[in-house]
Amino acid sequence: MASSALCIFCKILKGEIPSFKLLETKFSYSFLDIQPTAEAHCLVIPKCHGAKLHNIPDEYLADILPMVKKLTKVLQLDENNTPEGEGYNILQNNGRIAHQEVDHVHFHLIPKKDLKTGLG
Ligand code: 5GP
Ligand code: ZN
Repeated sequence: MASSALCIFCKILKGEIPSFKLLETKFSYSFLDIQPTAEAHCLVIPKCHGAKLHNIPDEYLADILPMVKKLTKVLQLDENNTPEGEGYNILQNNGRIAHQEVDHVHFHLIPKKDLKTGLG
């Protein structure tokens, strides 16, 4: 696994910085955002270091959206499939000009409903 000694998210993967873990596979890790913009705002990251999406090997990228999908189930965002019902945003920033602050690829999953999960 490619890792960067200075990267906050690599430190989270190594257990050097604590995180509230949600799901984990061989390729991906998800955890709660430390400064949530909504209840249960979470992040999904590849278990290899790369600043931007195009730096990440396909096998890692291929694992990310299935994990995002599993999180929609864990967070019960999958329950109301009508257009009017609850929903969520998926956000992925690349570069300062695109508002990226942490230079390790991450997907935000931001719920748009009142959650009853007790997370966070
Ligand atoms: P960006 O603007 O790079 O797309 O978003 C980075 C996200 O990482 C922000 O929402 C921020 O709150 C989150 N973040 C930064 N440092 C930490 C940390 O140490 N732990 C956790 N859980 N989230 C972090
Ligand atoms: Zn990293």
